[in-house]
Amino acid sequence: MKIVCPDCRKPAELSDDFSFVKCQFCKLDMTYGEYVKYVAYRDVRYRDILNDYKK
Ligand SMILES: [Zn+2]
Repeated sequence: MKIVCPDCRKPAELSDDFSFVKCQFCKLDMTYGEYVKYVAYRDVRYRDILNDYKK
């Protein structure tokens, strides 16, 4: 299954059994659990950046 890589925003591969995420473009390689936490962390940072930008 294709998902968006949290690092480079290119298509990354999620294994069919949801066990790992791999990105061939930036060599991202982590478990799905780590990926979910990583994306949540990145999204919070991203929203913070946008909020700062609006000030
Ligand atoms: Zn990537």
